[in-house]
Amino acid sequence: MSNKKNKRKEKRDALLLFTGLLAVCVLVLAVVVVPQLGGSTVPVSAPPESVLPGATGSEEPEVSSEPEPVVPDPVSIHILGAGDNLIHSTLYKQANARAGGGDDYDFGPVYERIAPLVEAADIAVVNQETILAGDELEVSDYPNFCSPTQVGDELIKIGFDVFCQGNNHVLDKGQKGMDAALRYWDKQKEKGVVTVGLYKDDEDVQDIRIVEREGIKTAHIGVTTMTNGIPMPEGTSNRLIMADDEELIRQLIEKAGNMADVVVVSVHWGNENTNTPTEDQKNLAKKMSDWGADIIFGNHAHTLQPVEYLEREDGSRSVVIYAMGNLASAQADPMNMIHGFLDVTVTKDFATNETEITGVKLIPSVTHYDSGYKNNRLYLLSDYTEELALNHGVHDNYRYFSLEYLQKLVTDTIDAQFLD
Ligand SMILES: [Zn+2]
Repeated sequence: MSNKKNKRKEKRDALLLFTGLLAVCVLVLAVVVVPQLGGSTVPVSAPPESVLPGATGSEEPEVSSEPEPVVPDPVSIHILGAGDNLIHSTLYKQANARAGGGDDYDFGPVYERIAPLVEAADIAVVNQETILAGDELEVSDYPNFCSPTQVGDELIKIGFDVFCQGNNHVLDKGQKGMDAALRYWDKQKEKGVVTVGLYKDDEDVQDIRIVEREGIKTAHIGVTTMTNGIPMPEGTSNRLIMADDEELIRQLIEKAGNMADVVVVSVHWGNENTNTPTEDQKNLAKKMSDWGADIIFGNHAHTLQPVEYLEREDGSRSVVIYAMGNLASAQADPMNMIHGFLDVTVTKDFATNETEITGVKLIPSVTHYDSGYKNNRLYLLSDYTEELALNHGVHDNYRYFSLEYLQKLVTDTIDAQFLD
């Protein structure tokens, strides 16, 4: 091969190489660079936006490997209120006879038919109308009651958690009665039981009782309007929260509201033997609701009184029952035989930390005894029969007592929205 020829060939090869490189450059520019210069000028032949993740605007979700924060689902609990547990002598004499006498008492048969309802509640609250001081003092009947502590043992056994001793009978046995009762209740703390309404001293008043279930904290306070005219013993350190001390009640409810999701106030007020609350009851309920009370369990009337929601300015609401009647008693009048448990459902939204009342039901029960106040025992009204009603001991004095009388008393007193 001549040098010339070789040189020409070299020139031609170089030209071909250059042309080829140029063509590749142009192609690369056309395919790779140009489409990325401006989104809006991308030719229609460009891939549709949907196959270009990350370059398609805000409507497509970001793909992220970070875990979502875990917020528990909303939780509901049932808070059950019960009325006056009023232990007349026939009740404790029957309990004593059942246990074989001596210092023993068996109250089981009185409460066994309502026990499943109490057991099923997450928190159950009752007004212990008579002072439980029988461990140290002689048991006694009306007007100055003193009851065997075994009645407290039985109520704890069936599931009551909160006992209110702040009522008109708390001073029936004076300082000795309060001392004995406080000692009894102290011993129940290890069972998770709390008492309200009777406090050791000022410091104890400020020690708001908290009962927590399922992550929902409930706070409990006990208030009474009266002590049957009996003054607090001189020099005592013991304390009651009296209804006329509104500044203290407001301070305690506000404090409780800062500590808990639900504030429950047990309050002893109104007139006995009426199904109608007084203006004073209504006014105090409204004030306590506005201060932050969410559930107001009223008692003292020994009869059933209405349930109602109370609206607050911020649109939230509380619920009050003005009186639930006698959980147990040996009273004589037909109107004293009907009682209503108030079952309040509260629901906590853990995302907002808000808790609200999501259900309120009244569950009626009946005090039954045979002629001569014998064999005193409680039934749910739904289990009560016409035959039992006809054989109730109240027929000794009141012929009109019947199952229908009991049912009508409930529907006349309680708004239908709170009844099944
Ligand atoms: Zn009372």
